[in-house]
Amino acid sequence: MTATRPDPEIPAKLLAWYDKHARALPWRAMPGEPAPDPYRVWLSEIMLQQTTVAAVKPYFAAFTQRWPDVAALANASDEDVMAAWAGLGYYSRARNLVKAARFVAELGGFPETEEGLRALPGVGDYTAAAIAAIAFGRRAVVVDANVERVVARLFAIEEPLPGARKAIRAAADRITPDERSGDFAQAMMDLGSRICTPRAPRCDACPLAADCAARGHDPQRLPVKAPKKVKPVRRGRAFWIEREGCVWLVQRAPEGMLGGMRALPDDGWSAAGDGSGEPPLVGAWQEAGVVRHTFTHFVIGLSVRRYDGAPATVSGKGEWWPIDRLDEAGLPTLFAKAARLARAASERLL
Ligand code: SF4
Repeated sequence: MTATRPDPEIPAKLLAWYDKHARALPWRAMPGEPAPDPYRVWLSEIMLQQTTVAAVKPYFAAFTQRWPDVAALANASDEDVMAAWAGLGYYSRARNLVKAARFVAELGGFPETEEGLRALPGVGDYTAAAIAAIAFGRRAVVVDANVERVVARLFAIEEPLPGARKAIRAAADRITPDERSGDFAQAMMDLGSRICTPRAPRCDACPLAADCAARGHDPQRLPVKAPKKVKPVRRGRAFWIEREGCVWLVQRAPEGMLGGMRALPDDGWSAAGDGSGEPPLVGAWQEAGVVRHTFTHFVIGLSVRRYDGAPATVSGKGEWWPIDRLDEAGLPTLFAKAARLARAASERLL
């Protein structure tokens, strides 16, 4: 198959479909409504990187209730934002979120161009294009994973990813309209998530079916993906130390994996190597089990050890945190899983 010439009617057909079928989302202005608040667009786009709409919705609601505008977020402490972000993963996004909020508050408002938006910490090409189009009505070529899939199929782009990205972007550029570029971007995202889905595209319900070069030719095989690399497996230990209804928590170093987050003490594992450090206390430790967790570039098998006893002190910086309020500590998912395992082991001993 070869790529077809784009039908100039493609944006018109897609926008007509979007006018009827747009998903209502908390950060979105529906067709015909005034442009949404750039703060809400930016916040949602940062949250949605690597995450699903369903996972983001409760976090978006909590953030906008607590910090209703960019000035409020700029005044928040790093610790509060990191704790509120806990569970959403990719914590460098939360660190950049606060930095970007302070940057925007200093500027007196969000930049309106892609170039200006790219200067914000944590905002790359895709996010800058999405905010410029959706919040400011600028013509911008917005290509996320959904759009990538739709375009690869529409034009039957057979080259495997990531090499195909250049051709996909050029094709997306050819069909992006000058007007309603934000609605067009959101329409493509909706089409990708509801109709042109990865495994079972519903071509019969697709407004672009007549223009699609892959229709009837196993569209689900596009875009062609490069074979997945096997992720390395790292091993580490996390330590659960309990005293009078509290557990010892530390704050991780500001840079590196889960930087700046509250956590259980561990043996210094990293993305590049297994942990080898000593436990924070000398004494008897009991194995509570192993937590397996997948990060972007590696998998960790974290062995959880419980201290047998109630120490008077623990060396190093940390804090005793009430176990019955552990869900307020903002532990990242890996350590929240480790804590559950340790608590289950403690309960078995009672
Ligand atoms: S016709 Fe099918 S494969 Fe083509 S864009 Fe529509 S849903 Fe995707």
